[in-house]
Amino acid sequence: MNAVILSIGDELVLGQTVDTNAAWLSDRLVACGVMPVMHVSVADDRGAIAEAIRDAAERTKLVIATGGLGPTEDDLTRFALADAMGVELAVDETALGAIEEFFRARGRTMIDRNRVQAMKPAGATMLENPLGTAPGIRALIGETTLYFLPGVPVEMRRMWELHIEPTLGADGAVILGAKINTFGMGESDVAEKLGELMARDRNPTVGTTVEGGVVSVRVRSAGDTNAAARRELEATCAEVEKRLGGIVFGHDDATLADAVGEMLKRCGRTVACAESCTGGLVGKMLTDRPGSSAYFLGSFVTYADAMKREVLGVGAEVLERDGAVSEAAVTAMAEGALDCSGADYAVSITGIAGPDGGSAQKPVGTVWFGLAQRGRPTVAERRRFPGERDIVRERSANFALNLLRLRISDQLL
Ligand code: ATP
Repeated sequence: MNAVILSIGDELVLGQTVDTNAAWLSDRLVACGVMPVMHVSVADDRGAIAEAIRDAAERTKLVIATGGLGPTEDDLTRFALADAMGVELAVDETALGAIEEFFRARGRTMIDRNRVQAMKPAGATMLENPLGTAPGIRALIGETTLYFLPGVPVEMRRMWELHIEPTLGADGAVILGAKINTFGMGESDVAEKLGELMARDRNPTVGTTVEGGVVSVRVRSAGDTNAAARRELEATCAEVEKRLGGIVFGHDDATLADAVGEMLKRCGRTVACAESCTGGLVGKMLTDRPGSSAYFLGSFVTYADAMKREVLGVGAEVLERDGAVSEAAVTAMAEGALDCSGADYAVSITGIAGPDGGSAQKPVGTVWFGLAQRGRPTVAERRRFPGERDIVRERSANFALNLLRLRISDQLL
């Protein structure tokens, strides 16, 4: 079954409130085997809400709407629903009693304005709200069931659990998802390798997203039973991993720092960093993970040339001749960090994150990476990352972690 999620309120359309309700509801619908096919946000406009309700009801068998059930002038959802159903509103005496009781229990008197919250379109059903004054509404338009919940997230969530979740999943339909994270290849190259696995009419579906240079492959499997959905999910994931090979570093929420941390722990080795343009970001990413003291010795954040010279021993002539963003400087930084820390590996980063400081030879986004390891020649690589300062820094930190991952797994000679 498919569903449409309708979010109602000026503040959502104006971008003043982020629509977390829709994200939460989508997650829960998928967990119940229902596929959300559309999120619609509508302003507090009676005509627009009624139209959105009618459109949503035509599109799917299930509509979940939040917001606009309050007592104020701009709370228009119930009126718009009545318009969409072509019926009148009437007071529901049980709901009115519950609202009066809500106020009485808090030592307050209900003002007249709150009476509107006890009104429902003829033929609709009120849904109890244990956490607030606004009851929800369940209605039918044709064969579509529509639920209207308050916008306040905590009330909305409770009412979902109480009134909607128990009615779903009875037919056994299940949707399962998995994420395979990769680094080292652009999104279109990944798509090329996945080929027909990404066909839109296939089950499980396969799609990609990118963040910080990490390309994630999302697999979603729909089945009549949990076992069937899982079987298909695992088969597709295995095929995705086979096609992508060594660029796969983890699953679901695993980061590059998680992957590197796990590998270092397994082989009992340690790492230190020498960071310039990333200002300690690699160290932060590594230490975000609990237990990182087992393998992370520390970062030398050497931003100024003087620090690179005095702390890491980068030669003054190197900095003068080649500059701080150069192969010679990044190599000396990695080797300096290895010597000073006594670690098994040292990674170094120096670059121009922008927006200023670029030149014709070294444009903004130019970053050098070094990797030193005892008994092996130090390697250096240059990359040019497009984008703003934060993006360049995040991609650089991930690139450095990936270099280390490739070396530990012997993919980097
Ligand atoms: P109430 O009776 O409490 O007024 P309501 O149904 O009228 O309930 P709204 O007035 O639309 O709810 O929203 C109440 C608050 O809930 C908003 O100020 C906003 O902070 C939050 N909210 C509403 N919709 C959303 C949403 N889609 N995502 C996240 N927060 C929301």
